[in-house]
Amino acid sequence: KLYEPRMAGFGSMNSGGKIPLGLKRKGLRIVVTGGAGFVGSHLVDRLIERGDSVIVVDNFFTGRKENVMHHFKNPRFELIRHDVVEPLLLEVDQIYHLACPASPVHYKHNPVKTIKTNVVGTLNMLGLAKRVGARFLLTSTSEVYGDPLQHPQVETYWGNVNPIGVRSCYDEGKRTAETLTMDYHRGAGVEVRIARIFNTYGPRMCIDDGRVVSNFVAQALRKEPLTVYGDGKQTRSFQYVSDLVEGLMRLMEGEHVGPFNLGNPGEFTMLELAQVVQETIDPNARIEFRPNTEDDPHKRKPDITKAKDMLGWEPKISLRKGLPLMVSDFRQRIFGDHNEAST
Ligand code: NAD
Ligand code: UDP
Ligand code: UDP
Repeated sequence: KLYEPRMAGFGSMNSGGKIPLGLKRKGLRIVVTGGAGFVGSHLVDRLIERGDSVIVVDNFFTGRKENVMHHFKNPRFELIRHDVVEPLLLEVDQIYHLACPASPVHYKHNPVKTIKTNVVGTLNMLGLAKRVGARFLLTSTSEVYGDPLQHPQVETYWGNVNPIGVRSCYDEGKRTAETLTMDYHRGAGVEVRIARIFNTYGPRMCIDDGRVVSNFVAQALRKEPLTVYGDGKQTRSFQYVSDLVEGLMRLMEGEHVGPFNLGNPGEFTMLELAQVVQETIDPNARIEFRPNTEDDPHKRKPDITKAKDMLGWEPKISLRKGLPLMVSDFRQRIFGDHNEAST
């Protein structure tokens, strides 16, 4: 038997995923919404590897079956095509709630849908957590800090967000998702965790998703100019995906609600990032300046003291070490598979 089924929602049998000391760990039943996406699929790999049973719930808006196909024959893996905006009945121990497009290009594509995903989708998954007594983790974002007036950003900072701008569907959507999460915690006793994720990159990102690291890497590989928006002096701090997944799992298994910043404090201007991409892929790659997008945050860098102190977590992989790992995946997908390269 791979795991002993638990009676979710029935008293001490369900500990929200906590393992009593001294007992051998039993596989948990875990839902990962958005598990066919970039971050979700890496998380699924780790959970399956650890011996858990994983149900991926995804509507394939930005996710791809290819990201999780290697688990199809595993009896501990299930994939459900489902939109989290619709209610869902499942019996599980833990819910990692990632479903939501993350690239500005994708989330601005249908802003009302983005809000529904963040608000109604999160409400449904919290309703599910409440009904079965599962522990719930929300993947929020550094975007809740908006165009921050405090630098680096600490979790106690309330942010500087435009409520009526083109990014608001995402920023305000995630802020509301955080509010819902805390209200289910306070009001219904749901065990919750909140992660505020800073810019993350790595293998399996959509090649043309419009985010800066995927754009620059694909452009350099295709011998196209690197498109720097604005003056390129705005900053971001880039985290490699395996560091994030480790942080999410520690947060879920730990005792603290959060919110916790999960990010790499290594801060780069977009021009510096372009330079690292040049050094990694093609020193002759040209840079082309383009007008910047509306409401673009000027700077972003996590203060991760809280995650270090309370979760014993900190990122291990610097941009210069992580980028080549992503480049080999992109190289293979762009040049190794013609179907993929043309999409
Ligand atoms: P992604 O776009 O690769 O993955 C999102 C997944 O959610 C996709 O598989 C998509 O198909 C699915 N999805 C979207 N809407 C859905 C819906 N209504 N119902 C069901 N599934 C739906 O993005 P990612 O980078 O993997 O991000 C994962 C999560 O982490 C998101 O919640 C995002 O907001 C958060 N996050 C990511 C970053 C980052 O830099 N990658 C930063 C901050 C926060
Ligand atoms: N929900 C769900 N799966 C469940 C339980 C609830 O999708 O297993 C949805 C439910 O349809 C509702 C939302 O979660 O829209 C909030 O549920 P809750 O029970 O908290 O609120 P209520 O149904 O009382 O409004
Ligand atoms: N950016 C850029 N060139 C691109 C894509 C993005 O210079 O091809 C800039 C963008 O203006 C922003 C930063 O890179 O300042 C990060 O953008 P991204 O969309 O990756 O994520 P964000 O942090 O804005 O959500």
